[in-house]
Amino acid sequence: MTVNIPVLKEVTEANSMLADVLRTRFAEQGVFVLDLIASPGAGKTTLLERTIEGLDGSVRLGVIEGDPHTSIDAERMSAAGVPVVEVNTGGGCHLEARMIQSALGQLGADDIDALVIENVGNLICPTGWDLGEDAKVVIVSLPEGDDKPLKYPMGFLAADAAVINKTDLEPYSPAEVETMRENALSVNPDLEIFEVSCMTGDGVDAWLDWIRGRVAEKRARQG
Ligand code: MG
Ligand code: ZN
Repeated sequence: MTVNIPVLKEVTEANSMLADVLRTRFAEQGVFVLDLIASPGAGKTTLLERTIEGLDGSVRLGVIEGDPHTSIDAERMSAAGVPVVEVNTGGGCHLEARMIQSALGQLGADDIDALVIENVGNLICPTGWDLGEDAKVVIVSLPEGDDKPLKYPMGFLAADAAVINKTDLEPYSPAEVETMRENALSVNPDLEIFEVSCMTGDGVDAWLDWIRGRVAEKRARQG
């Protein structure tokens, strides 16, 4: 059996150094950067669509779409009317700072207020890769089970906020929103939690307010 941990550590150290370079650049530009992590199907892209729609241009967004194989999500972002760059990881299960650096060159949008990075659908390894973001947000959908935060605690530990999505499915699912919330807070008591349904729009306003607040804070610290 081979253990690759020391090699991984070297790689992640190089990644962290580059992430710091990106973070400095974002600070100078006053751009708020969000890293969205979730399992496949939790609703990252749909939440982004609701976010773009809800902010309605009041916050200028740019999006980097991490996708293992396709451009399906990038096309959805493009249709929603925001500048987007797709990063195909060729089956890779997370984004790295060097991918963000090269995507920024293609995004060519210096006049944005916030950059949202949709990470590859995976609740494990994206938590260990710094992308220069201000905040990680973990999205978890109710039908995945309200024990998800306990089974995959790393994402909840690394996150500033958790979005519990698909709350409209509560009547059809053994999982309970309240239990999901309690489990998430038991892993990380500092989590900001939003209960939303991207289908009905329920709870989306509180999420939009949080984004607006974080964007304003970042802008105020600019320079
Ligand atoms: Mg997606
Ligand atoms: Zn990975």
